[in-house]
Amino acid sequence: MPKLRFSAFNEATNREPVDFEGSNLSSHSTIFAVNVFDRLKMKKYLSEEAYESVVTSIDEGKKIDRKIAGQVASAVKAWAIERGATHYTHWFHPLNGSTAEKHDAFLSIDKDGLPIESFQGDMLVQQEPDASSFPSGGIRNTFEARGYTAWDPSSPAFILEKTLCIPTIFVSYTGEALDFKTPLIKSLNALDKAAISVLEYFDKDSKKVFATLGWEQEYFLVDEALFNARPDLALCGRTLMGHAASRDQQLEDHYFGSIPERVSAFMHHFELEAYKLGIPIKTRHNEVAPNQFECAPIFEEANLAVDHNQLIMSLMSRIAREHKFRVLFHEKPFKGINGSGKHNNWSLMTDKGVNLLSPGRTPKNNLQFLTFLINTIKAVHDHAALLIGSVSSDANSHRLGANEAPPAIMSVFIGKTLSEVLDELEEKVSDKKLTPDEKYGLKLDVIGKIPEILLDNTDRNRTSPFAFTGNRFEFRAVGSSGSCASPMVVLNTAVANQLNLFKKEVDKLIEKGIKKDEAVIHCLREVIVDSKKIRFEGNGYSQEWIDEAARRGLPNICSPIEAFKTYLSDTSKKLFIENSVLSNRELEARYEIRNEIFVKKVQIEARVLGDLAINHIIPTAIAYQNVLIKNVEGIKELMPDQWKELASHQLGLIKEISEHIHEISRKVNEMVEHRKTANNVTDIIERASLYNNNIRPYFESIRSHIDKLEMIIDDEAWPLPKYREMLFIR
Ligand code: ADP
Ligand code: MG
Repeated sequence: MPKLRFSAFNEATNREPVDFEGSNLSSHSTIFAVNVFDRLKMKKYLSEEAYESVVTSIDEGKKIDRKIAGQVASAVKAWAIERGATHYTHWFHPLNGSTAEKHDAFLSIDKDGLPIESFQGDMLVQQEPDASSFPSGGIRNTFEARGYTAWDPSSPAFILEKTLCIPTIFVSYTGEALDFKTPLIKSLNALDKAAISVLEYFDKDSKKVFATLGWEQEYFLVDEALFNARPDLALCGRTLMGHAASRDQQLEDHYFGSIPERVSAFMHHFELEAYKLGIPIKTRHNEVAPNQFECAPIFEEANLAVDHNQLIMSLMSRIAREHKFRVLFHEKPFKGINGSGKHNNWSLMTDKGVNLLSPGRTPKNNLQFLTFLINTIKAVHDHAALLIGSVSSDANSHRLGANEAPPAIMSVFIGKTLSEVLDELEEKVSDKKLTPDEKYGLKLDVIGKIPEILLDNTDRNRTSPFAFTGNRFEFRAVGSSGSCASPMVVLNTAVANQLNLFKKEVDKLIEKGIKKDEAVIHCLREVIVDSKKIRFEGNGYSQEWIDEAARRGLPNICSPIEAFKTYLSDTSKKLFIENSVLSNRELEARYEIRNEIFVKKVQIEARVLGDLAINHIIPTAIAYQNVLIKNVEGIKELMPDQWKELASHQLGLIKEISEHIHEISRKVNEMVEHRKTANNVTDIIERASLYNNNIRPYFESIRSHIDKLEMIIDDEAWPLPKYREMLFIR
């Protein structure tokens, strides 16, 4: 199905892919994807033979022939130059979490010394950027400094400003992945294979299964001038201090409220740019916290959706500046109010456009639906810890299992209707062979009774980290700043693995002479029983759930450095290696890199906090204390008899200020000492653990004194913009 990769799906029916040209986006449709070298442009700029060859290679996941690559290169060059591009770059996602580009001009000098625009097939297919500035987790040191980027034809080239960007993977000289995309593509292939093999029980026509992803991106906006006056925001992306505003989200009046004009101008602007890049942004609204917003596109094939999420984040950051805003993607920029997540809506779709997580019209379709639903639940059950590990970071740990939800405990919510179906399947299917009556009853009363459109009657549970929402799962624990790739790699691989296991079990029964449907039902029952403990329909934020989850033996991993370790467990290694998604060496490297990034982030925060405390807060506190002292002296001079009584408020403050200053300075000094000790430890894992255990805890305790000072000190004198000033854009 050629259109699938480059166009979005039609969300309304959730079945048919829809081409945007001529879709109902009215005037937006005329600019949609103008800056993308999609199939429409390929068709226009390539010979028919080359077009067919490229499209087949893309659809079948095959390498593109070198000769054809040359033709594609000159076609894409012609198109890009026509659209005003002057440079090209390979665009990739190194493991530091950002995107990387190195721009080269098309301009070249030919053999006669004349200037020409040149872009050859090999420039399209492969480049050799200097890999030494990207994290490699030791992979590079022991082998070669070189890294390669290689074209990923499944994600189309696009023009960003005046540069033609070619999405690529990034691997070391020895072939190890140094990026997020390589394992993502491998996981998608593993999932495709596994899903197709299970789908054969129900549908022999489909040739390919895609994972679909629709992300919901939450973010904060802050006025640029205020942002610049807050070194913590500018350097760490979050506030390290700040007393709560008297009013923030308690009135619950921001969510779905009207969008301030200035903000809506910004949204309109970046959405327009997003459309040009083929990113089908559909939804925008206020979020729960003041100044918090969300945007979400129509879902797409997962690899493309991951690229589009990276792209939208950089687009938003750039365009916000034009509107004198800064976008905060940090998971917890402000204490005491909601943080930001990036819900990953995930499903499986066949090349015939069928959503495998959408219940169907017939019992047969529903059995197919239940098969994919139940196996996904089992995959989450088996790899719950790893799923938390995939979204964990220093920043996201301020959300997960901290002051707010979702909790750091994985559980799956499926709603009342489906819970009943699963419970009945568990009860009614026995170990022995089913009688024809039993089979009939099951098909009619249990499997057949799932309403076709669960979408509207699914009860929503916003406290669940992994919720079924009628035709997809929503993984809500994903952080707002990270790449969607990591959670998608884990989910795809876990589901692929589970589908393969399921297939084996069903085939065993079929070999024993049991009919296909019955074999499937039997195995589903087993899977339901084995994964029961991950299902939870209650309030995921409650203390009772934490206790209950502990009784059930579910992992609850709040510490990021503990969460990183989940990649190295025997179960995780087996999962990644057996499914050829990540090798042992790549896993070890990734583990090291995440610890390294953690140390750097905490180190920067510790430095900024120390600097602000000593150079901004304490001097302000002393200056104000001197004002108070002068004032008390004056009162004493004027009213020698009554001064103690009259100046009691001031005297109390003077003492309080001294106490806070003393504590801040003592704690900052201790924190600095711990940092010195930690920095002398060469082993990065050990250092991360010291930063986590000995340095991080100071952040809260130092800020508590600063936040109290903020309440005492003259508002005029306070050196930083306050929460109440930053949080209300008018
Ligand atoms: P809500 O806030 O109610 O969860 P939103 O409209 O904000 O809903 O976001 C829902 C997201 O789920 C959108 O990005 C949408 O495209 C996506 N989505 C819908 N169907 C699927 C599907 N089959 N696969 C993946 N994502 C989907
Ligand atoms: Mg939403």
